[in-house]
Amino acid sequence: MLDTLTAALREVLPADAVITDPVRLRTYECDGLTYHRATPGVVVLPDTAEQVASVVRLCNEFAVPFVARGSGTGLSGGALPREDGVLVVTSRMRRVLEVDLPNRRAVVEPGVTNLAITEAVRDQGYYYAPDPSSQQICSIGGNVAENSGGAHCLKYGFTVNHVEACEIVTPDGDLVTLDRMDPGYDLLGAFIGSEGTLGIATKITVRLSRAPESVTTVLAAFENIEQGGRAVSAIIGAGIVPAAIEMMDALAIEAAEAAVACDYPRGAGAVLIVELDGPSAEVELQFARLKEICAGAFELRVAAGQEERAAIWKGRKSAFAAVGRISPAYIVQDGVVPRTALPRVLAEIDRLSAEHRIRVANVFHAGDGNLHPLVLFDDAEPGAGERAETVSGAILDLCIEHGGSITGEHGVGVDKARYMPRMFTDDDLDTMQLVRCAFDPRGLSNPGKVFPTPRLCGEVPGVRKGVHPLVESGKAEQF
Ligand SMILES: Cc1cc2nc3c(=O)[nH]c(=O)nc-3n(C[C@H](O)[C@H](O)[C@H](O)COP(=O)(O)OP(=O)(O)OC[C@H]3O[C@@H](n4cnc5c(N)ncnc54)[C@H](O)[C@@H]3O)c2cc1C
Repeated sequence: MLDTLTAALREVLPADAVITDPVRLRTYECDGLTYHRATPGVVVLPDTAEQVASVVRLCNEFAVPFVARGSGTGLSGGALPREDGVLVVTSRMRRVLEVDLPNRRAVVEPGVTNLAITEAVRDQGYYYAPDPSSQQICSIGGNVAENSGGAHCLKYGFTVNHVEACEIVTPDGDLVTLDRMDPGYDLLGAFIGSEGTLGIATKITVRLSRAPESVTTVLAAFENIEQGGRAVSAIIGAGIVPAAIEMMDALAIEAAEAAVACDYPRGAGAVLIVELDGPSAEVELQFARLKEICAGAFELRVAAGQEERAAIWKGRKSAFAAVGRISPAYIVQDGVVPRTALPRVLAEIDRLSAEHRIRVANVFHAGDGNLHPLVLFDDAEPGAGERAETVSGAILDLCIEHGGSITGEHGVGVDKARYMPRMFTDDDLDTMQLVRCAFDPRGLSNPGKVFPTPRLCGEVPGVRKGVHPLVESGKAEQF
């Protein structure tokens, strides 16, 4: 089937846009989560939205699944390809199509990198606010699919707050536009964060923000993580909403030091990076208050200019990759807890780490309780991988127990699908699948992701052994 489909793909795409060479296919076998790997059946590199639509229509004709891929930096295996399917890579769709400053909007293709949007408007005093640490490489299409966040999302909100419209290819190959201004259901909201399961974004209208008049970046070094945690609560409690509050523990600092020589204060048990931005007068007032709150810090550094600001951020932005310097293998975990639960959850993570003899480095968006524990292990040591998995799963359980979530920004993908039943009942999951089925009745768009047991729409949903109550009552239609 795939051979016949490949021949048909060559009819609608340029010759160099269809990859079947086994060696080249392996380039695409995983995303940033290298633990899950599969060689795609065929890879296509479309140039235009029409080409994406043609590919998807052909996939439908041959009943072959397809998976969208941007830059492949995802950390939940969302872009893991299918051996029996087509991987649609958007890396050739990199045009900034329109910049409309009076309306503070830009229209871009999905393969444009997050940072490239800011670079296109920086000289005019604007920027694109959501800033994942991967922003130099990750694509805006991937950001939309994951509803990505970043250090500055505490104050400015996630991708969903900065996307005005998306042109998408629906799972059956239609090219449609979902616009925030459309009356009726917020279909754009449903699409953002749907991890490639509701179609492929081919054009994205993003909101541009005015660069702040003033920015003050502060690094506060504390003896231990509890002191740092108390400072975070006190800052928010004082009514300050910084642009970012990030925290790293001693092990994460050690890794960053080894990787990028970030020169954070020696002996720190925790560093807090706080960025204040806005009108100069407001930033000055907030900074005065911040200094009082951080009086317990044994060192307080204030960036004197852009260069020093970048130096402070360098350690934090490199933290995920940096742990490779202190451990042969690691799992990047992503969970959320209410801010007030941070001290208890961090203490529990410490306990798990000791119990299972697995080191955990903690890096987190402290302001919104988004933890990124880096679970370190030696993959050459028998049983270490399993122990690391146990710790990693137990951390997610902790997040749920404390009223949080199994993902803050990296998505569910293939990796966390098995944890979804810990957060949701079968009825919850079936109801979510009804939404998916409304977009993708044949289950061809990124199947096997997000849901632990994907079902086609015609199948009997879940444990109920009957049709969904909403369908039964005539309130919803099941295809
Ligand atoms: C070092 C590092 C730091 C990171 N820091 C952050 C961070 O601070 N915040 C954060 O949120 N994430 C972070 N990430 C995770 C990752 O960068 C984001 O999830 C990013 O949005 C993925 O973009 P991508 O282009 O690489 O997508 P991919 O990995 O290629 O794909 C991700 C998902 O999006 C889908 N997809 C891709 N393109 C499209 C499209 N056009 N239409 C529909 N679906 C599509 C894929 O099917 C897949 O499900 C980090 C990753 C790394 C490696």
